[in-house]
Amino acid sequence: MKASRMRDLSRRAMLYQAAAASGLGGVYTMSASAQQATPGRVPAGGPGAPTLPGPGRGAPVHYGPINKFSSPSDLKITDIRALRVAANFDYPIIKVFTNQDVYGLGEVRDAGDENLALAMKPLLVGRSPLDISGILQSVRPYAGPGRQGGGFSAIDIALHDITGKVFGVPVWRLLGDKKRDRVRMYCDTTGTRDPKKYGERMIARMKLGFTFFKMDVTTNFIGGTPGNLDTEGIPTDKGLEYGGELIGAVRDAIGWDKPLAVDAASLRCGTVTDGIRAAKAFEKYRLSWLEDLFYTGGFWRWKDFKEIKAHTSTKLLTGEDGFGLEEGFQELIDNRAVDIIHLDHGTSGGCRETKRIADYAYNRERIQTAIHMAGSPLATIAAVHTAATLDDFVAMECHAVDFISWWQQLITGLPQPLIDRGYIAVPDAPGLGVELNEAVVKEHLRQPGYFEPGTRWDESFVGRFRGGPWPHFNVDGVWVNERTEDY
Ligand SMILES: [Mg+2]
Repeated sequence: MKASRMRDLSRRAMLYQAAAASGLGGVYTMSASAQQATPGRVPAGGPGAPTLPGPGRGAPVHYGPINKFSSPSDLKITDIRALRVAANFDYPIIKVFTNQDVYGLGEVRDAGDENLALAMKPLLVGRSPLDISGILQSVRPYAGPGRQGGGFSAIDIALHDITGKVFGVPVWRLLGDKKRDRVRMYCDTTGTRDPKKYGERMIARMKLGFTFFKMDVTTNFIGGTPGNLDTEGIPTDKGLEYGGELIGAVRDAIGWDKPLAVDAASLRCGTVTDGIRAAKAFEKYRLSWLEDLFYTGGFWRWKDFKEIKAHTSTKLLTGEDGFGLEEGFQELIDNRAVDIIHLDHGTSGGCRETKRIADYAYNRERIQTAIHMAGSPLATIAAVHTAATLDDFVAMECHAVDFISWWQQLITGLPQPLIDRGYIAVPDAPGLGVELNEAVVKEHLRQPGYFEPGTRWDESFVGRFRGGPWPHFNVDGVWVNERTEDY
């Protein structure tokens, strides 16, 4: 047998082994066309694209041409770089490079900082990007609530993008089965003190095709009339009644049968008592959810949410600043403190951890999941892959509808409009199934540079010590225990 033929066979054997090792063995079938795939090409739809039968239809699954320039067993991360798109909330986007030209894109939580991901560089470079759980375990100690979850989440997304491309499967396939072909979207609606105008603005949302609606009720909107807020700025019963008038006007405009949620993060309910008053005042509007009753969100206040929940039929939701199951959501779920958890895909942990939290919520307490999203279309599509696999998913947010005309043009690879009649179609191309539109991204950079290389994070910012007595100044102010080659 010729040496080149043997090399080809052994590479194919490695692909099978790597697929089996990653848990893809059961779904992974190399088709004849896959074996003849053109090296270096990733199918992205159109003629020759992968055929993807829907789940449960009984047909064999052929994910089509394999990216044969990737030899999974030799794949290594070589670099991680970033750029930041200037938007209503900035979009820090990362790119994870490998030694085989295949790369992955990810995004740090909106209005976060790309350095949250770049700082993990020493924990990534030299490792296989297919070791997703191993790498995530390494970076987990540096993740936390709010924007601090952004670095972990961006890396998770980029690793799934690479792995999907290497094995020729969409990211949702790496996470589980596809439970829906499209993901329902909702968007915030610019608020006003005028009930009639609020109704008109929501009708404009309907005309855009949305089928799920959300409005804010804030102290600003209800505070225009004397007596609506007390001297501490907390809504009085009269003020809550006016809040109800705003909700009622929107209900009358769009119809009482439509799903309508209310964000109460700016209603200044700091205590359980105020939270119960607000939740009870809005009961008759049968909201899809009442969001973040506490002024600072307060997803960790599960005892308070549980007490409010015991006193009202209004559905409660929180969670957009929570990271991780154990770190952020387990107590909220175990105690059934809310009806729906609201996971920001860029904070909760990206694809894998978000699915883990949502699955736990559904399996343990039948708690539903909604996704908070204020990122770019790249981050949105990553979350669409995750949402596609969830058992009981409600809807995902888009924060750019009123503000950014070029939002959907930041990516290529999917039909536009991206949000079509209130839904985004779940991509079936390998990886995330989208690429950045370089020209449009370059028009909107916060600072110059398109994934420029850098050395700032080449050295680890923690964990430099490698054993032996810890170097320090002793009681006499003398530096002792400096590391030497003897260690
Ligand atoms: Mg919110």
